[in-house]
Amino acid sequence: MSYTALYRKFRPGDFNDVKGQDHIVTTLKNQVKADRIGHAYLFCGTRGTGKTTVAKILGKAVNCEHPVDGNPCNECPTCKSINNQTSMNVIEIDAASNNGVDNIREIVEEVRYSPTEGRFKVYIIDEVHMLSAGAFNALLKTLEEPPSYVIFILATTEAHKIPITILSRCQRYDFKRITIDTIAARLTDLIQREEVEAEEKAVRYVARMGDGSLRDALSLLDQCIAFYFGEKLTFDKVLEVLGAVDIEVFARLLDFIQSGNVSGSMALLEELIIKGKELTQFTIDFTWYLRNLLLVKTSEDTSEVIEVSTDNLVILKQQAEGMDVETLIRYIRIFSDLSNQIKYASQKRVMVEVALIKLCRPQMETGYEDIINRLKLIENKLENGIIAAPGVTAVDKPVMMAVKEEPSAPVVLQKAVSADLQELAKNWNNIVAVTSRLTKASLMNAKPSIGNNDSLLLVFTESMDKDLVSQESHMEELKAAIAKIIHKEVEIQTKLLTEGKENLDDIPDLTKIIKNISIEYED
Ligand SMILES: [Zn+2]
Repeated sequence: MSYTALYRKFRPGDFNDVKGQDHIVTTLKNQVKADRIGHAYLFCGTRGTGKTTVAKILGKAVNCEHPVDGNPCNECPTCKSINNQTSMNVIEIDAASNNGVDNIREIVEEVRYSPTEGRFKVYIIDEVHMLSAGAFNALLKTLEEPPSYVIFILATTEAHKIPITILSRCQRYDFKRITIDTIAARLTDLIQREEVEAEEKAVRYVARMGDGSLRDALSLLDQCIAFYFGEKLTFDKVLEVLGAVDIEVFARLLDFIQSGNVSGSMALLEELIIKGKELTQFTIDFTWYLRNLLLVKTSEDTSEVIEVSTDNLVILKQQAEGMDVETLIRYIRIFSDLSNQIKYASQKRVMVEVALIKLCRPQMETGYEDIINRLKLIENKLENGIIAAPGVTAVDKPVMMAVKEEPSAPVVLQKAVSADLQELAKNWNNIVAVTSRLTKASLMNAKPSIGNNDSLLLVFTESMDKDLVSQESHMEELKAAIAKIIHKEVEIQTKLLTEGKENLDDIPDLTKIIKNISIEYED
């Protein structure tokens, strides 16, 4: 008995059966109904989103003898011969392996003859961005004046590689990544038809792993079903087949990272590799784990958006407590960059190792977030009493000096800081993190300090940043962010540093003053 892969077996036969691309499907159906069919289409979008499937349905619909509401009937001889791939009317070309001028010239030659049966000759050119410059030129002439019975459907994952001369002659349709909900619904439907029993959570996990591609999700589901043939598909089984990693392992890894323990992280990675975990998968999963932590940290009701068991939610909450939003965002940035690069990389292990070292050692990077991170590490060490005496330390020298300079000044200011401002100072990074992108960008250039009458004073070095934050809408936004995080209203003043007269380093930093107070209390 031969086995047919799910995505072949249940390939949509008409437009109504296509999932997640309603905007495209409706337009195409209307064109068929109104008999206003274009001669050149460009279908763009990531892999597995249904480009060739829709192209084939369109090829059938325009040739069908009894179309129903813009859909092919799948009953008439024309539909049947297209479905059996015996029709001369729908021709599929893979540009990845036929990318030369000669291949296109062959098509151009063929195009001259009208179809012997049916109305249209439909040429589907897949991965069209792979065509050589010469081939594009040869195609262009036909696209400029196509015979009335010819339709070209060009499909590509990389629209930016298509010459503008070609683009301008096509109707362009952008295929969206398919949502987890849509994929999960489709998988559930197929599982029922196949009479396989499966846990909902297992199905959702597979749907998420598809990463917007229905085809990828279906082949993952295939793997799982084949591995546990005849058994109920559980979440644990799916994790096992797909080589996924348990949440506790992630928690352990994150502990190593936060304590800057490179060798611990490397040993854990080694352990995962020995167990046969797939590193691309691991990268995606760990990014989601960090994303979940960020959600737990920043939103109140998380049960809706986080797909984990109740037990795991408890672990997530514990872990989130010890972390701050900025660090998490930095981790996510590094790991989502990694998951973009790792899919097609040959040295996956090295790439993951480098990313882990980056997380453990923020000093390797020079961006703003990274410097903040380094300061945090030092502050933590100070609070935990790890740094015994100044000078006898593994921490980089320049940063150490900055820390040493601090204790002298703040003592006088200590009394001037109201409870509200102290609270605000402690949460400053979290407050900035919840503002919109524009506001955040300017706030990150501001130094928070103490103004008159217990107000927050924001000191800027660039008038552009000060003007932006001072605008009423942005000011309201910041006040709302403060109220949201510390549940207090705080007055805000802004100030531009006078160039040449004032030095930013002389302005007391609100967040540092608070740190010093808490360190003193501990003594
Ligand atoms: Zn038909």
